This record gives sequence, structure tokens and C-alpha cells, in this order.
Amino acid sequence: MEASFKEKKLFTPGPLCCSRSVKEAMLVDVGSRDSYFVSCVKEIRQRLLEIAQLSEAEYTAIPLQGSGTYCVEAVLQTTSPRQGAKVLVLANGAYGRRMGQMCAWAGLEVRLEEFPEDQRLDLAKVEALLRNESFTTVAVVHCETSTGIINPVEDVARLVASLQPGAAMVVDAMSSFGAVPLDISGSGIDYVVSSANKCLEGVPGFSFAICRTKHLLSCKGNCRVLSLDLVDQHSALERSGQFRFTPATHAMLAFRQALREYGSSGGLEGRAKRYQENRSILRVGMKRLGFRELLKEEDAGYIITSFHFLQHERFDFPKLYSRLSDKGQVIYPGKVTNADCFRIGNIGHLFPDDVRTFLGHLEDVLKEMGLPVPLP
Ligand SMILES: *Cc1c(COP(=O)(O)O)cnc(C)c1O
Repeated sequence: MEASFKEKKLFTPGPLCCSRSVKEAMLVDVGSRDSYFVSCVKEIRQRLLEIAQLSEAEYTAIPLQGSGTYCVEAVLQTTSPRQGAKVLVLANGAYGRRMGQMCAWAGLEVRLEEFPEDQRLDLAKVEALLRNESFTTVAVVHCETSTGIINPVEDVARLVASLQPGAAMVVDAMSSFGAVPLDISGSGIDYVVSSANKCLEGVPGFSFAICRTKHLLSCKGNCRVLSLDLVDQHSALERSGQFRFTPATHAMLAFRQALREYGSSGGLEGRAKRYQENRSILRVGMKRLGFRELLKEEDAGYIITSFHFLQHERFDFPKLYSRLSDKGQVIYPGKVTNADCFRIGNIGHLFPDDVRTFLGHLEDVLKEMGLPVPLP
């Protein structure tokens, strides 16, 4: 027998906590060709467009096996012609840089434009880039989860629409979709990527792209990888309602339940409100304990927050992490290159009381480590 495992609260960027009813929705085996499953896929695709406030006449939602990264890679591959592709990646953190890495891996010509990690993208610089060089795809991250910053992606999309109307405008909205408003069609965004296990609170196992159908259909024959070809995936889904290869059936049943719960708990507004409440309790509590945030208030969203390490000889992050974990509270290391930080997420099936409980445990751990609380 394996040692018993006690479930913990995940204050992380993913995987995240899910409701019991979402997990229970998986307690059934279903065939991928079964009409029950086909209608589940259909409901998911429809609900995703509704959440994005898009019409079926203009956009299509395409689920794809694999974590979020797989679908970002699928979009970059699918939007890049075999000849003459040139991708502009605007990066102010690890997830932006990862998109640059995907292009390099695929042998695509890429301009990876890096911006400071603790600031939003600089629109004047973006405009200058778009005036100087032409691109087939422009890719940007909405909530850069490595810090929590929210980038002005609608403004970037408007610049792309006016200066390079032929380029595919791609947004990695992995950690924001469903909880941070985004005007997709109004700002001219062609592709949005997210995954089942972020703000929509399904279980991990697949991701999805919401695509402007007309643009997608112009991409036939681009993708160099069969399993990541979104045009091919789309055509199978449209033709038969089925996936090309084994779908994550259990994860999709869970996701359908998660989307129903999302709808009945107030949709985007409800989700944003809960996460904002989590965040405001967290920031007041953390400040009281002496922690400083990495970002300026106007740049930080309400998805995840980066905090500086405490400036005290007894502060030891690995120790803090493991003691919190022993108390059932999981936080996350930092992901910025030039500062000692750690991160606390507000997303997933977490509620204000969970945040209060977390803060109590954190205070206890700091005291156990011999730190004065609050730090003067
Ligand atoms: C979580 C996340 C991803 C994808 O991560 P996976 O581990 O592949 O699911 C990509 N971009 C952002 C901004 C994210 O937050």
C-alpha cells in the first residue's frame, strides 16, 4: 500500500484545485464515438464561444489533447506558412519566452522581443516594431503567469489590425480566460488559447484554441506536425463531432461539469469577483506579515501574485515551502530572472476562507522559523 495522501490546497498556477462534483463527473467510462460523448464535446465547444462572447458564424472552439503548451504550439505551427513564416513574440516573462522557444524548435523565423518582466508591454515599442518589419504571426501573453502581470493585449491587437492586417494575432490567455474580460472580436484577435485546468476549473488533460474560422481555414497545409494541426482537428470535429485520436474522455466530462458550474456561479463576473476577493484578502494579509509585492498595483491582475522574499537571515524559502506543504498549503517558487520571489495563486476552486486559513498557517510557519511577525 502506498502511504496515504492528504489532499492539499493548491495556491499555484496549475494544476489547480477542482470541485468534488467536477471530479465525480469522471466516474464513468465512455467511448469516444458514443453519442453521449459527442454531445459533450459539442456542448463544450458551444459554451467556450459563449464565454468568449463570440458568434459561431465567426469563431470556432477547438479542443486538443495535451496541456496548454501543446495548444499554443499548435496555433504557432498552424498559423505559420511552410514558406516565409516570420513570428513576432512579445515577451515579458517565461511564458512569452516559451513561445519564442517553440518557434525556434520548429525552425520558424522568429523575432523574440523581450521587455522587462516587472512591467507591462510597452505599446510604443510594439508599434515601432510593427511599422518596421512584417510578420505572419504576432503572439503575446495576456496574464503572464510568471509574475501575474496583465498585458494590454487588446491594444496590441488593434495595432496589429491597423498596421499588419494580414498577420495572425495570437493571444496566450491560458491563466486569464474566463476570469479576466477580453474583447476578442472587437480588438481583432484571431486566436486565443487556454486550457481546461486554469480559470475554468476543470481537470488537466486537454487545452483549446478559439479561432477566427476564416483565418483558420486559410492555414490548411501549414502545420508540420500532424497531431498539432488545428485545421485537421477542426475538420474532423466539424465532420463527425469526434476527435482524430483518443480524446481525454474523462477530462472532458469533468470539464463539461466545470462549465456548467461556471455558468451557474455567475459566469465571468462571478469568477472574477471570487478571485478578486481571494486576492484582496491575500494582499492585506501578506502586507501585514511584512511581504512586499513585485509588481506595481496598476500592473498586477488578480490571478497570481509575486512576493519578494523577506529580508531576514532566518528566511529560507525551501523550508517555508515544505513546512507549508506539510500543513496542506502549496505555494509556488518565483519565475523571474532578476529578483528573489515566490508566487501565490488565487485561481482554482479556492475561496476567501481558504485564503484566510492559508494566511494563518503562513504566520505560524514564519514564527516556527524564528522570524519576528510582523517583520518590523
Ligand atoms: C499555465 C500556462 C501555460 C501552459 O502551461 P501547461 O503547463 O502547458 O498547461 C501557458 N501560458 C501561460 C500564461 C500559463 O499560465
